[in-house]
Amino acid sequence: MVNMYQKRKVVKGVPISFGIVMGRTRVILPGDIKVAEVAIATSSLDNEIQRLDKAVAKTIEELRLIRDSADKKIGGPVAKIFDAQLLIAGDYEFLKQVKEQIIAEKRNAGFIYNSLVKKTTNPLKKSDDAYMRQTVQDIEAVANKVLSNLGGYHKKPEVKFPADTILVGKSFTPGEILSYRRRKVTGFLIGEGGRNSHMALIARSLLIPVVTSEKIWTRVPNNCRIIIDGTNGIAIINPTDKDWTEYQRRRRRQGPATISRIKKLTQIPPQTADGEEINVAANLELPGPVDDILSWKNIPVGLYRTEFLYLEGDDFPDEKSQYEYYRGIAERFARSEVVLRTFDLGSDKFRDNDDTIKEDNPALGWRGIRSMLDMSEVFKTQIRAILRASVNRNLKILLPMISDVTELEKAKKLIHQAMLDLRRRNVPFDSQIKIGIMIEVPSAALTAEQLVQKVDFISIGTNDLTQYTMSTDRNNFRVANLYNSYHPSVLQLIKMTVEASMKYNKPVSVCGEMAGDKLALPLFIGMGVKSLSMNPTKITDICRLIKKIDSNLVYHLAVSVLSSQTAVSVTRKLQSFMTALEKK
Ligand code: PEP
Ligand code: MG
Repeated sequence: MVNMYQKRKVVKGVPISFGIVMGRTRVILPGDIKVAEVAIATSSLDNEIQRLDKAVAKTIEELRLIRDSADKKIGGPVAKIFDAQLLIAGDYEFLKQVKEQIIAEKRNAGFIYNSLVKKTTNPLKKSDDAYMRQTVQDIEAVANKVLSNLGGYHKKPEVKFPADTILVGKSFTPGEILSYRRRKVTGFLIGEGGRNSHMALIARSLLIPVVTSEKIWTRVPNNCRIIIDGTNGIAIINPTDKDWTEYQRRRRRQGPATISRIKKLTQIPPQTADGEEINVAANLELPGPVDDILSWKNIPVGLYRTEFLYLEGDDFPDEKSQYEYYRGIAERFARSEVVLRTFDLGSDKFRDNDDTIKEDNPALGWRGIRSMLDMSEVFKTQIRAILRASVNRNLKILLPMISDVTELEKAKKLIHQAMLDLRRRNVPFDSQIKIGIMIEVPSAALTAEQLVQKVDFISIGTNDLTQYTMSTDRNNFRVANLYNSYHPSVLQLIKMTVEASMKYNKPVSVCGEMAGDKLALPLFIGMGVKSLSMNPTKITDICRLIKKIDSNLVYHLAVSVLSSQTAVSVTRKLQSFMTALEKK
């Protein structure tokens, strides 16, 4: 049995998304079936109970069919499992309790049924007895069926959490982060998740503080006071009043700091010490707190991850609503430009209520452009919407996860068809719109020379390029030490891509998290990269450093770094360069 933190406990974890939040915990246990909690009007309570009766009857019918078929095909012992489940499904006393509680709490049948199932199974789960554990499995199997037959099983959560709720759990998808944010969750303490996972990226872009710490969800009690310091990777469980006052003070100081620092930026694009202009742009996921400052400062958007529009909604948005969304972005950044990346779905980016895109090995599966080529109508709808919004000529199209020339050709063909659709409808658009690709898988980097000839620009996604080159899941904290963008293999692929782009005179930019990493900056400039797109919070520091860099000097640094054999040696060289630079 694991010890819960009942007294003050300072947990040193990994800082995932900066900022300070203070509130009370709500623990979401792994395997918890997330059933929406919906308030039911008194006049609809009878209907809710009838829905439950129907769902139970359907479950019993299904279980009988399975039992009879198992009996015929395999015989007695297996069929007995379903006999046990049938008894559970029809348990009169349990169902009576569920119905009484639906009426007393005026809540939906699924939510009450699920809560009572958990109340029954949680104590049994701690048992060492094999029979008890089997019973838990049977109860959960029946509950899944009843909840699924009840419908609304995947319904979006509608009840908001109390103000200042901080969620504690094993892991959360980006879709869940978005959905919980809508329900007023202000911070997260999570057991698993990498610094470069999409969960981390979306939390950072929404300025939601997150800390990860192994197995934390097993130790934190529900409804206790908690402080999350995402900047330093600290969580204080059951803090003292002194802690509370101290963090209130720190939060006041830190809160507006990022925004006011971006406001102080004067020269965009910044120049190196020897006058080389470097294009610094922002990565955005959703309309957020810094957009106005970015547009006011004419900071371009080098990567707009449009898939978050899908993740926030109920389904793929239609052409009209996408058009309005992209037009809004194009207008907000009217004086600069925006690179809209088409939906990069799959892997850890699916909606929490969408089972269709869940796979066993998703990072190697139906991700990015692959799923969009198969769902060509969804892709063309998005392209038409982008094109319609492109009349001001400040939008570009970026295709994610391209792994070879054939895929690129197919995507371009669909873009061409979308253009023809609009011409037929007499709808104006930017017919010269630039089309680029992400280079983020090794096969693309290795064939960059062929690919660059067929596009207008290149954007290097170091997050995925590192994951695929090093064969380390970017979400998996157990291999986080192997996930290293400074590994010579990753750097060689970046170099090949940059050289291919320069050879064919195509603009190349870096848009993974590495673009905002101070250590990598001299290396990129030394390699010849003139464009970097990063999390907006990094822009100020990067611009400040660019001004100190001499592009001739960093050329030699890059030559030396690229000849290194290990990531340790790369980092050592870059660190000693940085120490000298920061003193300037
Ligand atoms: C990348 O892979 O580096 C990238 C920018 O794309 P994303 O992080 O959205 O996968
Ligand atoms: Mg990527």
